[in-house]
Amino acid sequence: MKDIVEGSCCFVCGASPDSKVFNDEHVLPNWILKKYELHDKYITLTNQTKLKYGSYVIPCCKDCNTDMGRMIEEPIRNILLKGYDEVVKHIEKNGIMLFYVWMALIFTKTHLKVTLTPKNPPAKS
Ligand SMILES: [Zn+2]
Repeated sequence: MKDIVEGSCCFVCGASPDSKVFNDEHVLPNWILKKYELHDKYITLTNQTKLKYGSYVIPCCKDCNTDMGRMIEEPIRNILLKGYDEVVKHIEKNGIMLFYVWMALIFTKTHLKVTLTPKNPPAKS
């Protein structure tokens, strides 16, 4: 919590930014931002913070970012850019796991940092 959610360590491996090369991770995949020309448009987060999509990133080391790109983002991009039939073909052949992991990753990145901001504190248990 202290290092990743509240701090600036890599959200995947927990490495400190002064211990590795960081290139940060777009919360919404960069290829989607390019395809729909969103880099200069604004997104309003659940805590009412407005950010440009292009600067909506979370801390991530280059090693983790590269691995996630190779294992998750590139395969998903290649399927989605080919259209609906390719999505169906992939799911029929391989199941839904790749899509589930991709969506879970976006969900995690979206909510990792905003839940602890003063405007939207976590619920007390
Ligand atoms: Zn990392």
